[in-house]
Amino acid sequence: MTIELFRNDSYLKEHKTIISEIVSEGLVLNETIFYPEGGGQPGDEGSIVIDNQMIEINGTRYIDNKLVHLVKNIDGLKKNEEVKLNLNWIKRYSYMQVHTSLHLLCSIIPYPVTGGSIGDGRGRLDFDLETKPDKEEVLIKMNELINEDYSIYISSITDKELDENPDLVRTMAVKPPRGSGLIRMIKIGDNIDFQPCGGTHVNKTSEIKHVKSVKIENKGKMNKRIILNF
Ligand SMILES: [Zn+2]
Repeated sequence: MTIELFRNDSYLKEHKTIISEIVSEGLVLNETIFYPEGGGQPGDEGSIVIDNQMIEINGTRYIDNKLVHLVKNIDGLKKNEEVKLNLNWIKRYSYMQVHTSLHLLCSIIPYPVTGGSIGDGRGRLDFDLETKPDKEEVLIKMNELINEDYSIYISSITDKELDENPDLVRTMAVKPPRGSGLIRMIKIGDNIDFQPCGGTHVNKTSEIKHVKSVKIENKGKMNKRIILNF
């Protein structure tokens, strides 16, 4: 199993590690700082350096329960070789900002989330909601929360604690990661947002760019799509 360093420190930009396995799509490493596609967030891109040779990583995702760094050509790569990972930080930081902003959006719109997507400078959530919220109001509240400079905290609860508090799960589309007995929780401020999440977040809400515009689309009687542009 790859040790996922980005879970505890999402600000790591480079890291030296060892190739533990080569699969047809790319490399499995002992440790990684690359986030694998999931929960609406794209997998990380970047490069690895082996013996002064740079190889592009075109994405990161789980394949057959292995965290794979996708490379075009695996010829010449060997197991147990030392590699240096370089993350495409500009893209990832943008995802972290957008991802964290969607937690703030959850606090403004207290309805179940049915889907979502995180992009570079753009993000959206779908809510199980009948009436369209006022987009100007959403814009103002979002930027207020960003300006308030709340801290983001990582903690965990047990499977049992989550079973006893099912309301903590906001996203119907993404199941909280179970299996280890502990579920990773993300908290913003004292009581802005608290929910299970395995993604990458910024440390302070002031790191998020101001929301430039909000678009709200009707996606069915009980489904409203809120799109944030930064
Ligand atoms: Zn999150």
